[in-house]
Amino acid sequence: MNIILFGPPAAGKGTQAKRLFAERGMAHLATGDMLRAAREAGTPLGNEVAGIMDRGELVSDDIVIRLIEERLPQAEASGGAIFDGFPRTQPQATALDQALERRGTSIDAVIRLVVDETALIERIAKRFDEEGREDDNPVTFTRRLERYNADTAPLLPFYQQQGKLREIDGMRTPDEVASAISSILDGVHA
Ligand code: AMP
Repeated sequence: MNIILFGPPAAGKGTQAKRLFAERGMAHLATGDMLRAAREAGTPLGNEVAGIMDRGELVSDDIVIRLIEERLPQAEASGGAIFDGFPRTQPQATALDQALERRGTSIDAVIRLVVDETALIERIAKRFDEEGREDDNPVTFTRRLERYNADTAPLLPFYQQQGKLREIDGMRTPDEVASAISSILDGVHA
């Protein structure tokens, strides 16, 4: 089973994906985590994307598509993937569908965490204070939110037309959100 956790930055996608990894063993494919790891390791790719990430802009489609494609065999071996922070643009969504199709599989559900932006800005200010992630600073976070609204939110009709879109209230507690996700996944299995 392959699912996309969809929503703006700081909606709680990473938290939920980690739970699904722990509870169901599905591979957690988060392009943001992969890019941060590349930066920390000081690879050429990491150096190339550092400035873009710090400004809250999107790195190129080619880069993130390649990162995801490299992980698909591992995801398949785990019985499926949770895509977190990918796809973020229409070319990424199309490439993902094509790459999965080549492997004889597809996206089963796109789970959108619906959150309100004012609450998000508060949530992220707190995370910035606690974790000090540079791209959580208020200026960059605003840019990331803008990118989400301009480039990523337009994917919602694409998945809705495919009958794959499910929406849940992302403002509830992490436990409640997890249980809503679980119900959806159990329905996919049935
Ligand atoms: P995230 O942790 O998912 O919020 O990602 C952190 C940053 O990595 C984003 O603000 C982008 O600069 C970059 N990034 C992560 N995933 C993608 C993606 N699918 N497409 C383009 N840029 C991405």
